[in-house]
Amino acid sequence: MPDFIFHNAQVLTMDPRRPVAELVAIRDGIITAVTENHRLKSLRTPKTQVIDCQGCTLLPGFIDAHCHLRALAESLLTLDLRSAAGIVTIADIRSRIASQTKTLPLGTWVRGHGYHEFDLAERRHPTRWDLDAVSPHHPVKLSHKTGHAHVLNSLALQRIGLSRYSGDPEGGIIDRDLDTGEPTGLLYEMGSLLAERIPRIDRRDMEQGIEMASRLLLSQGITSLYDASARNDQRQWEQVVTWKDNGRLTPKIGMFFGAAAMALIADRRFRYPRNPRHLFPLGIKLILDETTGKLHPETPELHRLVSKAHDLGLQVAIHAVEEGPLEAACTAFGNALANSPRSDHRHRLEHAFLCPPELIARIAALGIQVITQPGFLHENADRYLETVAEEKRDYLYPIGSLMKSGVWVAAGSDSPVGPPTPLTGIHAAVNRLSLKGASLGPQERISLPNALALYTCNAARAAFEESFKGSIEFGKTADLILLNGNLLRFDGTAIKEMAVVLTLLDGNIVWTSESHPSYR
Ligand SMILES: [Zn+2]
Repeated sequence: MPDFIFHNAQVLTMDPRRPVAELVAIRDGIITAVTENHRLKSLRTPKTQVIDCQGCTLLPGFIDAHCHLRALAESLLTLDLRSAAGIVTIADIRSRIASQTKTLPLGTWVRGHGYHEFDLAERRHPTRWDLDAVSPHHPVKLSHKTGHAHVLNSLALQRIGLSRYSGDPEGGIIDRDLDTGEPTGLLYEMGSLLAERIPRIDRRDMEQGIEMASRLLLSQGITSLYDASARNDQRQWEQVVTWKDNGRLTPKIGMFFGAAAMALIADRRFRYPRNPRHLFPLGIKLILDETTGKLHPETPELHRLVSKAHDLGLQVAIHAVEEGPLEAACTAFGNALANSPRSDHRHRLEHAFLCPPELIARIAALGIQVITQPGFLHENADRYLETVAEEKRDYLYPIGSLMKSGVWVAAGSDSPVGPPTPLTGIHAAVNRLSLKGASLGPQERISLPNALALYTCNAARAAFEESFKGSIEFGKTADLILLNGNLLRFDGTAIKEMAVVLTLLDGNIVWTSESHPSYR
């Protein structure tokens, strides 16, 4: 007795034994049949809700394998300074700040996100002095699009106790005026310090932001996400528990934690008894970079952390973008695995944007997964073509080569760094075209089924969830999405024009598009 039957669908199951089907039946949140249209009569009962999909594509719900929920919610509550929001000069940034200061009591923090110096006519970051002129009495914090840099005005610097006499914190850089030594307001890799010293957004506002983020994710077909914030800790976990309990957050969420939480995860202290498949801990996230010119954390500390987490049986995810950090991460993983071999570790490299063939071979040999962000490829390709040396361009986002080498690749949006829009990511992985239509590394294009796998079955595998999620198969969880057309009939370059019209989570309709009232 199915609760739902979707028929006349082009079901792309992501199950290699049965890649396509026409009809899917669901009962109690579980897929009970994947079959042909002619079974409709025998399966339906008077109580079954039957949905004629009119030839549209039905897919497993998308899994965003790398994003940042809290930052996404904050971005929906703070000034949008992305070029997509019409910000193309520092004057634009100043005028947005100026109008916000008019509505806020003196001394209240003004927050903005998403600016990128490449998108600004001045081709530079704003400075504290740019911001002081429009906001002398409100502390201002602007977050760079990547989240790895911030700009503060003078009042904000004063509030958090940074002055010309402050030294650079470990792993971070306080940008300074070359003549006077005064901080310019630009801070690299100082997110942790800022999080400690700047008051958090009010709890009730935050809940509203989470609700907005939740709706946004569901509208893009994202039924599960993995939060890769290295600053996650027990307090963050408890907040997510609250958001889950009070129904603000609908998608399922797996969380990585900072290294400090290692012992707590191993002790199984993070548990969500109400529904462990809706909220669960994943492992440890480490950020490895060379912002200051040398590796941070340094090699001995990196090896210590990776080995300790590995020996505790945890999954380790390392943020590593370019060759230096990627090499170092592989060495640390190799070292940990040599000391205590474990076959199904599923350790992860996050990003791996610049990855030459020798490194791909190493990653494959170590059995490490790569979590890529194809959306950036589309959004940033014009910048890469301008700024990345020609001999290195072939090594950008080598998704095709990684997959051919047998590396398990999954994808995420890194939202709010990129928009949480898997269809754009799928478009990017298939076509590798920039916003302006330029081609970047066409040899690394992948097929549509492989691109879908990045956001479905491969992403489920990345979190050990493939036995019950990530494909449309008998017995699996009914997290499904219906698109507004037939994906296979769409011209390849138009994939990103397609939209999700219905999102189903555990067999419940949790989102429908306004344009398809028949599904409401
Ligand atoms: Zn990230």
